[in-house]
Amino acid sequence: MKKLVTDVVVIGGGTTGIGVLRDCAMRGYRTILLDRADLAQGTSGRFHGLLHSGGRYVVSDPESARECAAENAIISRIQPDAVERTGGLFVVTPQDDPAFGDKFLAGAALAGVAAEEISPAAALAREPRLNPGIKRAFAVQDGTVDGWQIAWSAAASARQYGGQALPYHKVTQVHHSGGQVNGVTATDLKTGEEVSIDCSFVLNCAGPWAGQITHLAGLPPVAVIPGRGIMVAMNHRLVNTVVNRCIPPADGDIIVPLHTVCIIGTTDNKVDDPDHLQIPRSEVQQMFDAGEALIPGFRQARALHAWAGARPLIKDDRVAASDTRHMSRGMAVIDHSTRDGVTGLLTIGGGKLTTYRLMAENIVDAMEEQMGSSHPCRTADEICPGNEPGHNYLVTHRLREREADRSKSPIICECELMNRDMLVDLLKQHPHANFDDLRRQLRVGMGPCQGGFCSSRVAGIACQEGVADAPRATGLLKLFLEHRWIGLWPILHDAQVRQAALDEWILHGTLDIDHVPSPAKVEHDPVEDLPIVSADPPQAAPGGQLAKAAATSAPEPKEQR
Ligand SMILES: Cc1cc2nc3c(=O)[nH]c(=O)nc-3n(C[C@H](O)[C@H](O)[C@H](O)COP(=O)(O)OP(=O)(O)OC[C@H]3O[C@@H](n4cnc5c(N)ncnc54)[C@H](O)[C@@H]3O)c2cc1C
Repeated sequence: MKKLVTDVVVIGGGTTGIGVLRDCAMRGYRTILLDRADLAQGTSGRFHGLLHSGGRYVVSDPESARECAAENAIISRIQPDAVERTGGLFVVTPQDDPAFGDKFLAGAALAGVAAEEISPAAALAREPRLNPGIKRAFAVQDGTVDGWQIAWSAAASARQYGGQALPYHKVTQVHHSGGQVNGVTATDLKTGEEVSIDCSFVLNCAGPWAGQITHLAGLPPVAVIPGRGIMVAMNHRLVNTVVNRCIPPADGDIIVPLHTVCIIGTTDNKVDDPDHLQIPRSEVQQMFDAGEALIPGFRQARALHAWAGARPLIKDDRVAASDTRHMSRGMAVIDHSTRDGVTGLLTIGGGKLTTYRLMAENIVDAMEEQMGSSHPCRTADEICPGNEPGHNYLVTHRLREREADRSKSPIICECELMNRDMLVDLLKQHPHANFDDLRRQLRVGMGPCQGGFCSSRVAGIACQEGVADAPRATGLLKLFLEHRWIGLWPILHDAQVRQAALDEWILHGTLDIDHVPSPAKVEHDPVEDLPIVSADPPQAAPGGQLAKAAATSAPEPKEQR
């Protein structure tokens, strides 16, 4: 068994946990973060991509609105490369009550959320695909955000201050004695080795899994309720501005232009287990209907992929325990010394990805209060590594870079303009990465072909570069395609069925992928993807029966992004 000693252990490597690692390290605490998977593979990698202006909550949850407005400005400053300053619109469609616009403006003024009414004609000039019947429109400061980039750059900052992140380490026990936390036990999922860490503080940042962690400490579960939501990525940026429907928060009320696609979402349903999230076809249809209200013809656009995530919502006594849609998005720190008589353990829940930095500040403040020490939080003051001041993400970045070096490096993923050099550089840095790890960094396989053209090239290059032998590369390729298929199955329709059929011919007809030697079980390889994607795909990856399968009803698929 490996033994480590530290001051603080952070459980959970989503944006909240990584923000906490950074904050603790900046305040001078020796801190180790553990996640059972790679960083930001939980909810922080399965969300809608909106950097909230606060507008969504000005009427229903003014405190969250205020927090979002303040943090939107901070994140845009300290992690500008992860943020696209798209701006946002709230629009009243012909089906909506125009009077809600007055409540919206009044709420925005009270919560300090910048909002300005503009004419429907001005909104249509900005976003010509919008419903021409919109009755009112309001401009806000929404942006879009890449959760993975937020996570990596905050983790890089934490490392500069001595913080240590250990992905693929699953916490199995939280120890306390005489009412004081004194350590955790984890399993290194890559080696199978047990790791024991002595510490005096444990910060539970396991998002929707937070209740499972208190169980590992032998304490009653905390009231963090997983609220499942699905999202669907469409082929194009049908809008370049975040478009919200100007109504109380509802299903499918926001379209977010993120990277090369736009995403409609989301739903909100209580689930018992965040490891098993479904993507019901009925909810996918609901998203298309909601899209039509904002953009007539939305259904005719091509849907590329669907995924689901679970919100870590704090139980809200104002609404029924199953009503996650109307539960507050507010954050809360749960102190287990007052709740369970165990000092040195705090849990955080609620909040948004937009407010991850503030959540971290709050829980680290609470830890210091319990310790009787105090250091100022400086996370809002310093730009994270890899970000240039004032240099926001632009969707045209890759195209501009491509035009500058046109023929230097061949394109491997046409949809996302990923070239060979980008792939080889990353493979050299992370020789044990699986293809989903590569996807999260390079976006390979996230465009219209969903990996049909590019994934076998990635396998070939991994082989050429010597990071995988042929059977292993084939195994990783199969695993990647299986994962893509989980998010394809629920949206297969029209053009994407034809694409899937073409991919099938490439992979089966040309490559004969089912008969190329590969290890029997790549999913048990030490570089496996997040266990929550161990969900069985509804149908094996396309294999000759695609058109028939797509036309028949199938069991509800589980999630993957
Ligand atoms: C459908 C949906 C859409 C959303 N859209 C937006 C949006 O547009 N904008 C926005 O600001 N917010 C959005 N949110 C909210 C936001 O995504 C979450 O609030 C945020 O990502 C939560 O981050 P987290 O770090 O708290 O949790 P997570 O990212 O889930 O991190 C928890 C981590 O704990 C780890 N873990 C679990 N058990 C263990 C264990 N035993 N040992 C070690 N590690 C463990 C998991 O692997 C996971 O990585 C959305 C949420 C959902 C569900």
